Amino acid sequence: MSFDLPALPYEMNALEPYISTTTMEYHYGKHHRTYVENLNKLVKDTEFAAMPLEDVVRKTADNPSYALIFNNAAQAWNHAFFWSCMSPNGGGRPEGEMLKKIERDFGSYENFRQEFKNAATSQFGSGWAWLAEKDGKLLVLKTSNADTPLAHGMKPLITVDVWEHAYYLDYQNRRVDFVDAFLDHLVNWKK
Ligand code: MN
Repeated sequence: MSFDLPALPYEMNALEPYISTTTMEYHYGKHHRTYVENLNKLVKDTEFAAMPLEDVVRKTADNPSYALIFNNAAQAWNHAFFWSCMSPNGGGRPEGEMLKKIERDFGSYENFRQEFKNAATSQFGSGWAWLAEKDGKLLVLKTSNADTPLAHGMKPLITVDVWEHAYYLDYQNRRVDFVDAFLDHLVNWKK
């Protein structure tokens, strides 16, 4: 058994002009693909080869002897999840139950937006910003490198990749503009 690079839920050019086709070709076609290929090499003939990807992430977290497997498994999972967090018709505030939960736990959508943006722009170096659920409550957090709320007993709901490879071709060093574009034009609350 081996892990597959999942198909994108939209065309490579679908997120233009906010994420260019060139960025998607590198980010999905090269970075994400490489995490999956490395993971397959690393788990070959191990107990992890037959597990669902989520289980590999959870079982290799916080164990230095499995750091390489964790990094590639978590990045494979994080990227597949990130693609599903965006849509060509996305952006703006959620509706219905999701909006109610955000208002319950952050006070307002605007408060959530500010907190998420702060997490995404203040993550020093490579990492991710997340909306996640823990013990029935929503929270915003940031993680470094490959780390993911999945490894810490939380349910990830939304993420944005803030590694430079996610935005540098389109936004250079303006991570804040990329995060604004994600929130206002791409985030897919319907998933
Ligand atoms: Mn990435």
